[in-house]
Amino acid sequence: MGIPFFYQMKSEILKINKLLVKKFAIPERNKRNPSPLDTLIGTILSQNTNDNNSYKAYMNLKNNFKDWKEVDALSASEIEEYIKVAGLGKQKSKAIKTILENLSKKNPPYSLEYLYQLDNVKVLNELTSYDGVGLKTASCVLLFSMNRNVCPVDTHVHRTLNRIGLVSTSAPDKTAVIINKNLPEGVAHTFHTNLIKLGREYCRPANPDCGGCPLTSICKYPDKNTEIKRIGKKNTFLLLDNL
Ligand code: SF4
Repeated sequence: MGIPFFYQMKSEILKINKLLVKKFAIPERNKRNPSPLDTLIGTILSQNTNDNNSYKAYMNLKNNFKDWKEVDALSASEIEEYIKVAGLGKQKSKAIKTILENLSKKNPPYSLEYLYQLDNVKVLNELTSYDGVGLKTASCVLLFSMNRNVCPVDTHVHRTLNRIGLVSTSAPDKTAVIINKNLPEGVAHTFHTNLIKLGREYCRPANPDCGGCPLTSICKYPDKNTEIKRIGKKNTFLLLDNL
């Protein structure tokens, strides 16, 4: 009888994680976890833009308003003015306004602290019931605010894990389901963050730098590129560890 699939995947994840830590080290975390609502809004702002722009949009709200209640006093189009640097302003401001309006009716208002009482699946169901909040965004709340062992899967994580050959999936959400079913305890933040770094610095969508990649010896990608060296600047700023 062979080794059960989930054991194999857990050990593969540990092997990848170890190689990534050797290259990038264990990433630092926020000294104090941001509140779930801060992470939720920060992650909505980060959709389809880079971390520097989403941070500027987030700080435009944080620096100009005392709390989320004050932001909720604005109309969606007024919120849009503050966050437009992050792009998709209309869509993101509508999502933020809907969430804040809904949370204004909870007790206590403007708080997602009640999520701490729920298991991961219930938290995901609760958060993804909002328009504009998908599995990745909800998973970021679990990992970055609630310290749960959940690996959010964005396009970087999805692309790299498919190229390495750990999964063979057609969409980030499908990758997320498989990875999170098999994730060894305590690795989520390191694994997630270092895969983002890998995807930005080496395993880029086009022209990956397979020659310099720390995973080249175990990666099964058939079109490895060992010719082109690193192009572009190293981008180390990570929004959700800086809220
Ligand atoms: S070897 Fe190349 S394709 Fe494989 S993970 Fe590294 S950069 Fe990506």
